[in-house]
Amino acid sequence: MTKQAKGTKRNQSNLIAFLLLLIIVGIFVLLLTEYNKQPEDADVYIQAGHEGRIFGNTGSVSKYGREIDWTVIVADEATRILRDAGVRVIRAKADRKRVSHIKLAVSIHFDGSQHACKTGASIGFNHASDRSAAKEWKRLYRDIFPFQWMKDNFSKNLKYYYNYRYTVASDAELVLELGEMSCPAQARWLSPRLEYLGAVVAYFMAERIGVSGVDKPRFRP
Ligand SMILES: [Zn+2]
Repeated sequence: MTKQAKGTKRNQSNLIAFLLLLIIVGIFVLLLTEYNKQPEDADVYIQAGHEGRIFGNTGSVSKYGREIDWTVIVADEATRILRDAGVRVIRAKADRKRVSHIKLAVSIHFDGSQHACKTGASIGFNHASDRSAAKEWKRLYRDIFPFQWMKDNFSKNLKYYYNYRYTVASDAELVLELGEMSCPAQARWLSPRLEYLGAVVAYFMAERIGVSGVDKPRFRP
């Protein structure tokens, strides 16, 4: 064989190897996409509002902290307590685009208002069947949160929350606004109690789905 012929042959096998690699990567990506389209089952779903975003709606910011940090602390603590009690939790970031089949879903948020102290705690839901869980949350959190409440679904973001389409809940799916972080009095009350609020959320969810072993956390005035 001439030098030239050898070189051509090598080029051909390189090309074939490259094409094979391309096909393997393609199949892998396809399988992964298909897998992510499969709905996931669990007992509950806990989303930390805005988590994982670097642009778009990245949440409220005040001199007391960033919403994106606070929601993670609350969601993580609720998740930890529930998992310790044997509850299967899907712990979701803001843009988990996979359908989840659960009993109960909550999305954790803190409100921000252009005019400080115009809002407070509130709740969002999009279906009449969510109402009983919403009521129960309000009953619980009203005793704890010492500031004002807004009407249910008082904003478009609460009523038409983008993430409702990814949660199929047999009991309810709720957006929990835990208070207004742009209001100094509320923010000062909220910021040292984020883990406590996670424990309150865990207690609420456990009660709601009938799991024992999650105690009501001691009230921290
Ligand atoms: Zn938010």
